[in-house]
Amino acid sequence: MSQTHQFIRFGPAGNSDSFYAAGFSQTVDAFAWQKERFGLDAFEVPFGRGVSMSAATAEAIGVAAQQAGVSLSAHAPYYINLANPSDEMAQKSIQYILSTARLLSIMGGSRVVVHVGSPKKESRETAMALCAERLTQARAQLIKEGFDHIRLCLETMGRPSVIGTLEEIMTLVKVDASFLPCIDFGHLHASGGGAINQQADFEMVLDTVESALGSERARRMHMHFSRIEYGKKGEIRHRVFEETEYGPEFSQLAPLLANRGYHGVMICESRGTQAEDAVSMKRDYQAHLGARHKIA
Ligand SMILES: [Zn+2]
Repeated sequence: MSQTHQFIRFGPAGNSDSFYAAGFSQTVDAFAWQKERFGLDAFEVPFGRGVSMSAATAEAIGVAAQQAGVSLSAHAPYYINLANPSDEMAQKSIQYILSTARLLSIMGGSRVVVHVGSPKKESRETAMALCAERLTQARAQLIKEGFDHIRLCLETMGRPSVIGTLEEIMTLVKVDASFLPCIDFGHLHASGGGAINQQADFEMVLDTVESALGSERARRMHMHFSRIEYGKKGEIRHRVFEETEYGPEFSQLAPLLANRGYHGVMICESRGTQAEDAVSMKRDYQAHLGARHKIA
């Protein structure tokens, strides 16, 4: 899908309850449905629990998504740990990134979202150094296999115990010019014990990314959004937009994204209502775009 798309694309992470309630069961049917019913033009294929899809299915999904004008990203497995001191285990993690990339490439997408990992007994600094080294290796492997168009999107995490603070992600994204951050605002809220409560908090996140990567690269970033429940150790579970007792509030972020000209991808991770909540974000964002930039 075009990298020069002028506006943010919105879409769900995986299939919503309403998709199944409408009588569908195969992801290949999701794109025409979500485009027609909701006007959503992004979709994140969830491989969090494993990369199991045939090349034929991936190809069919790619064709259907392209016909509907939906751009695809994929979430690599959650059990990837690039901070593992065992090089053998880390190489397995790199292979999970590669297998996600292979399928996404068949589907015509380019963004692979990765949770980089968590320290075992080693120090945070050592873990970060291992992650940087393995990310470099993963990138080299991607290029070697002809997937240089694949961009690893490194995600900010919801628990302080794992690698993925905003600062850590900025450091790791700078390891390779092709990398992008996946800023998960719910995760930042949860890992900070309820850190994002007002517009200034969102501003600080965007300012940090822009000053680390430059505004051109920042504006193309990948984003995840959902309300979230958290405890002492951070993230407990994703919540839906209707559950307004949980933050953060997308309405505080929408004008910033519109006014600053962001044009990356925003994926909604609400549990069950991710398509509906993605639409509500898209409407909110559109309302802040000037009349000159009004989009359909
Ligand atoms: Zn994630």
